[in-house]
Amino acid sequence: MMSRMRYSRLFAPTLRDDPADADIVSHRLLLRAGYVRRVTSGVYDFLPLGLRVLRRIEAIVREEMDRAGAQELLMPMVQPAELWQQSGRWDKYGPELLRFADRHQHSSCLGPTHEEVICDLVARELRSYKQLPMTLYQIQAKFRDEIRPRFGLMRGREFVMKDAYSFHADDECLAREYRNMFEAYGRIFTRLGLTFRAVEADTGSIGGRDSHEFHVLAESGEDVIAHCSACDYAANVEKAVGVRDCLSGEADELSEVNTPNVTAADEVASFLGVAPSLLVKTLMYRVLCDDGRSEIVAACVRGDDQLQEIKLAHALDAASVELAGDQEINAVGAVSGFVGPVGLQCPVWVDRSLQGACGLVAGANRPDTHVVGLDMDRDVPDARVADLREVKNGDRCPHCEGVLALSRGIEVGHVFALGTCYTEPMDVLFQASDGRRAIATMGCYGIGVSRLVAAIVEQCHDDNGIAWPIPVAPFQLVLISMGQSDAVHEVSQQLYRALTDAGVDVLWDERKERPGVKFRDAELMGFPIQLVVGDRSLARGEVEIGLRGQTRESCAVEGVTERVLQLLGAGN
Ligand code: ATP
Ligand code: MG
Repeated sequence: MMSRMRYSRLFAPTLRDDPADADIVSHRLLLRAGYVRRVTSGVYDFLPLGLRVLRRIEAIVREEMDRAGAQELLMPMVQPAELWQQSGRWDKYGPELLRFADRHQHSSCLGPTHEEVICDLVARELRSYKQLPMTLYQIQAKFRDEIRPRFGLMRGREFVMKDAYSFHADDECLAREYRNMFEAYGRIFTRLGLTFRAVEADTGSIGGRDSHEFHVLAESGEDVIAHCSACDYAANVEKAVGVRDCLSGEADELSEVNTPNVTAADEVASFLGVAPSLLVKTLMYRVLCDDGRSEIVAACVRGDDQLQEIKLAHALDAASVELAGDQEINAVGAVSGFVGPVGLQCPVWVDRSLQGACGLVAGANRPDTHVVGLDMDRDVPDARVADLREVKNGDRCPHCEGVLALSRGIEVGHVFALGTCYTEPMDVLFQASDGRRAIATMGCYGIGVSRLVAAIVEQCHDDNGIAWPIPVAPFQLVLISMGQSDAVHEVSQQLYRALTDAGVDVLWDERKERPGVKFRDAELMGFPIQLVVGDRSLARGEVEIGLRGQTRESCAVEGVTERVLQLLGAGN
């Protein structure tokens, strides 16, 4: 995508002030610098500069996918309901799936992802193991009716994804491709100039077994990831396991104490003079199962821990969990504010850190009352144990002696070893080498291409604007003409030609604007190299050149192309 452009022709409407509804840096800067415009909630126009960045990211993704042996295809956005009924996700996926009927009352949806469509395609064409393995990918718009679209491109409803799908005769082959894709992702995010981490992830609504997310580290990230200081263990908090010391209090008989109006864990702890970790925090959840049934369960963690709802949903094999209402709580024999695990008429799940502990304090399921001397084994013998607590800074690593630290991340990629959870219902069968019919095993691999535009800005900006890494910059160089003299115009034009002939993408700012305005826009839009042509340097046969945010150096007019290519080479 080599090309050049004159600023006066460029459609990049800039804003002087921060737009009111943009709450993170990337959203603000992409709007202000004229890269994107909002059409409606979670739906954006990519203006020419924005599209150029998107295309550059796509080109890098495409190159690495092709290099990894994947083949590009293009699937439709509109998908028939039948395919989703066949996989079982028509009912499971929830309101993020935008469903509609066409004029023949035929149900369809806008694709949030393409497992169904690709399985259907491959099922119809796959005959023999000799056609496997096979990895197919596309770069295409997805639609998810997100409950809270926000942060501009970061969480849109319509967004661009690279999604790849691999099919295999056996799980060893799938594991090899999973590695292959994992490594390709590392190359992609490195080439994009990002600081990132691969973390173990929850498999979410897509299903399957092994899964890693790739996170760009940034304060504005919506995800929290835990990573070990000593080994390479890293995981999303939705899944991360931390090890903590499990304390018990003094063994004692179970007895009730009066705690009028004292409900919050830390209040109870200080009222009774016990450590918060000896408190049992009991939360009541309504559990929604895949088949539409729901039930109430109690879930317990220590008073100084937080319950991680995704872990709970996993432990229960539930579609989702929601906090229960007061009536539901009463119906299983508990009292809001004074809930405890003893004597409940519902299943009780407890975090592993509570297993075997005694001398604990918990709600008594009676108003204004707690129990003390609680012994989990003795008093809640039917409790089911699972890892339910959210990791905390300072927890010990589950794999070594290291300590876990939490940081924020933006999920830009996700790889799944799915196994047969789609290929089985979608009948992706083939004839194996021994002649028998077998079910193919499958992986899927996503990258948030449009989210990456925002994620890169989150990492690459300063007070003046965006600082694009060279490989994704919409133009590699901005040529700024200062003043309107013939000499400036002639030399600028000459450099504009010479540079584009040499393969450099140049935006020529030939507007009749003050230098201050041109520099401000150049910094805001974030072009990596600035080339300044002005009368004063030209009198010495020189121009000024430099990387954005660094001091410019003088350079003889004849030496410009060479110097620019050097700068581009060093930054690529
Ligand atoms: P998230 O947890 O952020 O909602 P996800 O787990 O639902 O993401 P996947 O189904 O794995 O996402 O989709 C693959 C990639 O698509 C994600 O890694 C992310 O980069 C991107 N993506 C997902 N949802 C959105 C969205 N609403 N807007 C922009 N990009 C998205
Ligand atoms: Mg999502």
